[in-house]
Amino acid sequence: MSMDSAHVVILGGGAAGTVAAERLGEKGFHVSIITDERYPYYSRSSLIDLIAGDVNESEIIKHGEGWYEERGIALQVGERVTGVNPFMKKVKTDAGEYEYDALLVATGASPLIPQIPGRDLRGVFALRHIEDARAILERCDAAHRVAIVGGGPLGIEVAAALTKRFGGALEISIHEREGRLMPAYMDAETAEHLREIVEEAGVKVHLNSEVVGLNGTLQVSEVVAAGGRFHADVVVFAAGIVPNVEPLSSCAMVRRGIVVDSALRVEGTGGKYRDIWAAGDVVEWEGNVYGTARAAVEQAEVAAENIAGGSVKYHGTVRSHTVRCFDTYVTSVGRISGEETLKYREEDLTVKVFLEKGVVVGGIVIGSKIVGVRVDEAVRKGLHVSAIEDILNL
Ligand SMILES: Cc1cc2nc3c(=O)[nH]c(=O)nc-3n(C[C@H](O)[C@H](O)[C@H](O)COP(=O)(O)OP(=O)(O)OC[C@H]3O[C@@H](n4cnc5c(N)ncnc54)[C@H](O)[C@@H]3O)c2cc1C
Repeated sequence: MSMDSAHVVILGGGAAGTVAAERLGEKGFHVSIITDERYPYYSRSSLIDLIAGDVNESEIIKHGEGWYEERGIALQVGERVTGVNPFMKKVKTDAGEYEYDALLVATGASPLIPQIPGRDLRGVFALRHIEDARAILERCDAAHRVAIVGGGPLGIEVAAALTKRFGGALEISIHEREGRLMPAYMDAETAEHLREIVEEAGVKVHLNSEVVGLNGTLQVSEVVAAGGRFHADVVVFAAGIVPNVEPLSSCAMVRRGIVVDSALRVEGTGGKYRDIWAAGDVVEWEGNVYGTARAAVEQAEVAAENIAGGSVKYHGTVRSHTVRCFDTYVTSVGRISGEETLKYREEDLTVKVFLEKGVVVGGIVIGSKIVGVRVDEAVRKGLHVSAIEDILNL
């Protein structure tokens, strides 16, 4: 694609959209980002810091208007994309129309709030945008009991952030449907260790506790879960994501997310589009919806390169989660099963490494951010077990 006149339109200005825009702007393309948010790019993980009271709203906005201008990027905030006409090469928004030569769909995902009774009551939230953090904090100021639905990385970080901000003024609980915290990322032993850390910090953990309804009149007052009914005047859902596929739902192949090939090209209903790509949480690649910033960035880089005429392939992203759980860092990376397991335990540090034919395929680290980074590297590089002691510096 010739860069001097080509117009690349990017739907969504989150991690994927912003990284792709930066790469394409550097290459000289005329880039427009359309986002329904009222703010330029901010990292969603900084919403946790905002809830904890470690930063304020203006501190989390990463790029000012000048950043976009310098890179030739036109940023359109507060505009919602309602549809795409792939034959006319046009994007429709609630404010007008845009023509594109190449289109990148990076609309991310929305929190999953199951269709349970009471989900529309006041006091029920999910955290994805600045406005959500603001609303949660406002409501928690006058609340006594917060129930978090979902004991995955996000639920635990929200619990820790609220504990930091409100201390003993709030009773905080986590309801997890499965029999352990971070079920997709911890084995039974490390999950139990994690539960101890969370409970020692004052958060009540309810396991095997699927939330099936919320009670209240206008305002939520009770969580109905498998194990009983629990008072709550704030409920925060951290129970997974749903990709925002709407702008392409009538013209692209959609399963859980928008289906892309290894070039990150969108599969249309009647074949592959030559000029539509997708990246980030909205994407389904080989059955995977990653839902992590790292995958969003890696996909955005591949998509940008290909939009610019390259032929780069995306090979998947090694799954990795680091959670700041009160004062303890918890990292889970790669496959948490394998032929063989190595375990190291010192005072406040637990490391479990999973091996396949002597190669490190996954790991869990509780108690050290830096060791978590090293294990993450070992998995991504596919290092042999013989290197592990050096890597861990034990
Ligand atoms: C609180 C929180 C903490 C997180 N912490 C971590 C972490 O520590 N590590 C990690 O790897 N991941 C983390 N994640 C996940 C990570 O933030 C996402 O994977 C990442 O944001 C995905 O980037 P994206 O660009 O695909 O989507 P998004 O960041 O969601 O950006 C998509 C943008 O598109 C906009 N949009 C959607 N639909 C439309 C439309 N129709 N028209 C116009 N605009 C639209 C959205 O409003 C949004 O601004 C966290 C997520 C949350 C919510």
